Amino acid sequence: MEEIKITRAPTLKPKPDSSKLVFGKNMTDHMFIVDYDAGQGWHDPRIVPYGPLQIDPAAKVLHYAEEIFEGLKAYRTAQGKIQLFRPRDNIARLNNSAARLCLPQIPEELALAGITGLVKLERDWVPSEEGTSLYIRPFMIGLDAALGVHSSKHVQYIVVVCPVGAYYPEGLAPVKIYVEDEDVRAVKGGTGMAKTGGNYAASLRAGDRAEKQGYSQVLWLDGVHRKYIEEVGAMNVMFKVGGTILTPDLNGSVLDGITRRSCIQLLQDWGYEVEQRRISYEELFQAAGDGTLEEAWGTGTAAVVSPIGELAMGGKKVTVSHNQIGPVTQKLYDNLTGIQWGRLADPHHWVMPLD
Ligand SMILES: *Cc1c(COP(=O)(O)O)cnc(C)c1O
Repeated sequence: MEEIKITRAPTLKPKPDSSKLVFGKNMTDHMFIVDYDAGQGWHDPRIVPYGPLQIDPAAKVLHYAEEIFEGLKAYRTAQGKIQLFRPRDNIARLNNSAARLCLPQIPEELALAGITGLVKLERDWVPSEEGTSLYIRPFMIGLDAALGVHSSKHVQYIVVVCPVGAYYPEGLAPVKIYVEDEDVRAVKGGTGMAKTGGNYAASLRAGDRAEKQGYSQVLWLDGVHRKYIEEVGAMNVMFKVGGTILTPDLNGSVLDGITRRSCIQLLQDWGYEVEQRRISYEELFQAAGDGTLEEAWGTGTAAVVSPIGELAMGGKKVTVSHNQIGPVTQKLYDNLTGIQWGRLADPHHWVMPLD
């Protein structure tokens, strides 16, 4: 691998107050960029001062959403060390998304070196207050400057990072979820299994509508039958019904979440049966009605787990777990965050120390 060339920012920004961080707003002083050109491969890895990109107005990413991304975090332990959580899983998923979008595969070591090189340079930006972390956003964009619909021959992989606050500064609070019965996020054969910007563009309208009605997230149903549960907002979703854990299977339109994967492993370690299968909204409302729906939660890197306290669809509304965080949701949160911040043992070797 070519050595990463570092150009330092001439002046450094003041660090924000880590008790007042707004998600995704406080970008650091530097960013990582590596170019790809067909026939040449990946070249010129570099860390440069953070700043606007110069993009040709005809670049494919601006017109045809030729874009994929990832999201992971660097955590500071009580001993002051910095560690990542399953970063190789993120890179494998980035390459799966790349295959779907006809973007080039990036070697794992290069993608990882971009992340670790940047986080090491920005190590003073990794906050140490309870629940805070450095959010890492790797992404890949197609940059060919021509309006024809083709896959790009010139591509960049870029990494930017920003400190983020505790997701729940006042403790884990249950969220209200609206079951979306009009718009769909993704369909099998589409790009639902890829982490790509277009999926999010398609989700904005339902998200806005739900917010106006006082709901914080949308529960997506499948695009064909409009019946089976897929995901909640930008999270995977799990339910505890009559002692068993249910979660939608990875059917092609659901994202393969790394938090989902980690939760399934922990739940199985604890002896729970985890069923990955189709779950209809009727089954869910039925379980809520007969009292067997014990807990519901979303899973994702940003929030880790997000308890669901209320589900609404059409005129129907049900409360889950008395609008309180349930014991399994809490246990998952405590164990995953315990591993991520280095407070608990890491039996599955998920953590990668940075130094
Ligand atoms: C990123 C993402 C998730 C969560 O994945 P994690 O790897 O757990 O962060 C779930 N659903 C969608 C649509 C996503 O984009």
